[in-house]
Amino acid sequence: MGYRSLYTATIVAIAISIAGCREQGTSFTDLEKALITDSERIMRVLTVDNEADLQVLRDSSTEFTDADLRSEYFSRLSELMVTTMQDSPQEGVGIAAPQVGLSRRVVAVQRFDKTGEPVEVYPNLRIESLGGELKPGYEGCLSVPGQYGIVSRYQEIIISYREVKEDKAGTIRDTVRGYTAVIFQHEADHLDGLIYTDKADSLLF
Ligand SMILES: [Zn+2]
Repeated sequence: MGYRSLYTATIVAIAISIAGCREQGTSFTDLEKALITDSERIMRVLTVDNEADLQVLRDSSTEFTDADLRSEYFSRLSELMVTTMQDSPQEGVGIAAPQVGLSRRVVAVQRFDKTGEPVEVYPNLRIESLGGELKPGYEGCLSVPGQYGIVSRYQEIIISYREVKEDKAGTIRDTVRGYTAVIFQHEADHLDGLIYTDKADSLLF
């Protein structure tokens, strides 16, 4: 999502070399591994004005396995998505994996509803329910440079995502409200091949 953030970006973890790590049993494809390992600090953001990029942006994304989420590939991808989002000239407040070339269900979202407004990563994100007021607001997108639009979004949603910690794994549910709920809806759409311009009431250049 491409709103210019007025807030200081959260400092993100530094690159970890994944060379030499054993990554058995993950579902990452060779292409995905190459995209992750070949990126030093940021990844290229795909844009709708490039035909090949648009095809990826229109794909539906697949979920990660728990083994994927425990791998160095996933932690490196998470870091790269956050640094890419914050590095962009538009200084985003959210990014989805298809925007960096991976058709995978993961997003990074700046949690304006939490103390310190951290950027957090949500694998296997789903929106379980949409509720509250349907309210119009401005949106932009890192993949649609130079454009903004007005989109109506729900103000109270329930999300679910996967969390793995050491030997435990589970699905977490969270209620999110207001602007942060808008960001989640925008990013979740990317995972289904949708772009905000599909839903905009009006577009501004
Ligand atoms: Zn977007």
